[in-house]
Amino acid sequence: MYKKHPYLRDKLSIEQRAKFQRGTDVGLLAHEYFPGGIDMSPSTPSQFPKKAQETLKNLNNPAVNVMYEAVFQHNDTLIMLDMLVRDGDKWLAVEVKSSLRLSDTYYNDAALQYYVLHGCEVPLSDFKLMYLNADYVKNGPIDVKQLFKLESVMDYVVEKEDFVSKNVERLKAVVALEHSPLVNIGTQCHDPYPCDFQGHCWKHVPKNSYLFTTAIDDETLFQHYFNGTNTNAKMLQQLDPDSEEAHQIEALETNSYYVDYKTLYSLKPQPEPKSVAYLNLLLHRPAVPELDGTKPYEEMILAFALQGDHEPDNQFVWDCFEDHGRWRESIGLLIDKLSRYEFIVCFTPQNLTTTLLRHEIIQNREVGYKVFNLFNILQQAHFYHPAIKRGLTLQKLSEALFKEAKLFEHSRIILEATSNDLISYQQAREDLITENEIIKKTYQHFFK
Ligand code: SF4
Repeated sequence: MYKKHPYLRDKLSIEQRAKFQRGTDVGLLAHEYFPGGIDMSPSTPSQFPKKAQETLKNLNNPAVNVMYEAVFQHNDTLIMLDMLVRDGDKWLAVEVKSSLRLSDTYYNDAALQYYVLHGCEVPLSDFKLMYLNADYVKNGPIDVKQLFKLESVMDYVVEKEDFVSKNVERLKAVVALEHSPLVNIGTQCHDPYPCDFQGHCWKHVPKNSYLFTTAIDDETLFQHYFNGTNTNAKMLQQLDPDSEEAHQIEALETNSYYVDYKTLYSLKPQPEPKSVAYLNLLLHRPAVPELDGTKPYEEMILAFALQGDHEPDNQFVWDCFEDHGRWRESIGLLIDKLSRYEFIVCFTPQNLTTTLLRHEIIQNREVGYKVFNLFNILQQAHFYHPAIKRGLTLQKLSEALFKEAKLFEHSRIILEATSNDLISYQQAREDLITENEIIKKTYQHFFK
């Protein structure tokens, strides 16, 4: 699909864009570990062959000791290596990852790069993966030698070469086809990653198909699909009418939501709390620490909105969008504000109590107020709506309950609030308040 129909690819989500941007930022910083290199990245894809030739020439140029994004091509396979560093009469290959630990995906990525480097007869002293050091604490300017860790994967990539070679041949045969292969949708569309072509390949699947249920695993759903269960009615015939699976299909049919009310009401606060506050916290975890005394991905509170009777005009909003160094001011404010309420309602996939403990906003779990996280409550009560197939978010909840599909998303607000290109602090603040309104409306919808 990438080869023949790249224009059919789905648009990148905000989360994906933020992730790619983070990878680029960390990659650029990593260059300082081996400074003074030449950047080989092409400005357009048409320049790849030229850059590959230049890279090979540079290998024999004693004046070149480091190359960034060096381009290599072997057996119709093209790679860009983050860093290639002269090491005596050989070269050290380095690939950078913006994470705190390494996974099989990274090792396999390195294996493909090694296959191409070996094919180009680059004499390698080692192949290393570079990643963020979880123990690094920023103190003054970033010390890249401490921020990054290096791990040799040479033994692994050498061992994998045969496996990579076979797969390259297999995939070359695929791209050589006149048309993209006719493959039916299946579990591969979501696993190991959501595929970028679902908008195209799934367009024949009705929006209310049983394939969008969450109570049945993908493997089982596709077994039914391939066995000829092509309508919701046929699927329902095979299910217990009182099962969660059947209720989800009914919700799909009627474009409404399903919730297990018995469980939901068993979780209802008893007795009814007298003073309730609605809290929307915006957390930020920069990959590269921004402030002294912090580590990679260390969490900071970037903003919060609090709605409750003890606030002037019922609403309090705080943020440090323009100066992250002020983020700790939020702690004192939250300690003071939250202590006036008996019950704090929020909606977050994180454990808010753990966050409050981590920042010493509360001292122990037996706090003076109860944290009521609607995200957990609704999950426990098996809340389902067609919009939530790939995860429950506040935006989707709003669509499900109030038929309002607002454009806000936590990650977008963070992007707005932290990106140099997209600064719109006012919009970020307004979105924070709108989100909190949804939290309040959801709580009242189910529990008032
Ligand atoms: S069938 Fe699924 S995995 Fe294959 S291209 Fe289409 S969406 Fe992607």
